[in-house]
Amino acid sequence: MSIEVNNISKIYGKQKALNNISFKVGKPEIVGFLGPNGAGKSTMMKILTTYLNANGGTVKVNGFDILTNTKAVQQSVGYLPEHNPLYLEQYIKEYLSFNANIYGVSKNRIDEVIELTGLTPEAHKKIGELSKGYRQRVGLANALLHDPEVLILDEPTTGLDPNQLVDIRNLIKSIGTTKTVFLSTHIMQEVEAMCDRVIIINKGEIVADKKLKDLRDEK
Ligand code: ADP
Ligand code: ADP
Repeated sequence: MSIEVNNISKIYGKQKALNNISFKVGKPEIVGFLGPNGAGKSTMMKILTTYLNANGGTVKVNGFDILTNTKAVQQSVGYLPEHNPLYLEQYIKEYLSFNANIYGVSKNRIDEVIELTGLTPEAHKKIGELSKGYRQRVGLANALLHDPEVLILDEPTTGLDPNQLVDIRNLIKSIGTTKTVFLSTHIMQEVEAMCDRVIIINKGEIVADKKLKDLRDEK
C-alpha cells in the first residue's frame, strides 16, 4: 500500500479537524478526497506530507512511518499545496532549480519535469507571465522533481478556466497511471473526470469510500 492511515485525529485548540480517520491507497491509483470547505482535507494532506503532526493514530507512506521515518516519507511524496506560493519575478527554471537543490536532484531532472508537465514551450518565461493553468504545471513539475511514488495534490483544478481544466486533468490522469495520486476537491465532477476511487470526508469523518465503477453501477 502507498498510503495507510489508521485512526488519525487532529485537534486545533478546541476545533476537532479530523476524528479517527482510516483509509488505504494503492499504486497506481488516483483517489479523490471529496468534501466541503472545512471538512479536514488540507489537514489530512499536511499530515501525509509531514508538515503537520496528528494528535493520535499512525500513518505510513510508501511503507514508511511518518514519525519514525520522516525523511523517507518526504522523499516518497510530492506535494502541490492549495495556495502554492510562486514568485512572479522568478523564471520557471530558477524556481525549479531552487527546489532541485533542496531535494538534491540533478539539473537533467529539471528538464525532464518541464517536458513531463508540458511546460516546454513556456520554459523560458517568468512565472508571472504564465496563465493559471501553466502555473499549476509549474507546481506539478516541482512536486515531481524527486520522482516521488506518491503525489498529494490539494485542490489542483480549482480556479482553472475550461481549457486549462481539461489539460490539467489529463496531465494528472497520465501521472496517475504509474504513481499514487491523492487529490482533494469539493466538486464531484472533478472526481468523476480523474479518479478511480472517491473517499468522502465531512466534518472530519469519512462518510464514504467507493470505487467510481461501483458508483456508476449503482446509478
Ligand atoms: P478543508 O481543507 O477540507 O477545507 P481544513 O483541513 O483546512 O479543511 O480545515 C478543517 C477544519 O479545521 C476547519 O474547521 C478549519 O477551520 C479548521 N482549521 C484548519 N486549520 C486550522 C488552524 N491552523 N487553526 C485552527 N483551526 C484550523
Ligand atoms: P495552504 O493550505 O494555505 O496552501 P500550505 O500547506 O500550502 O498552506 O503552506 C505551507 C508551506 O510549505 C508553503 O510555503 C508551501 O509551499 C510549503 N510546502 C509544502 N509542501 C512542500 C513540498 N513538498 N516541498 C516544498 N515546499 C512545500
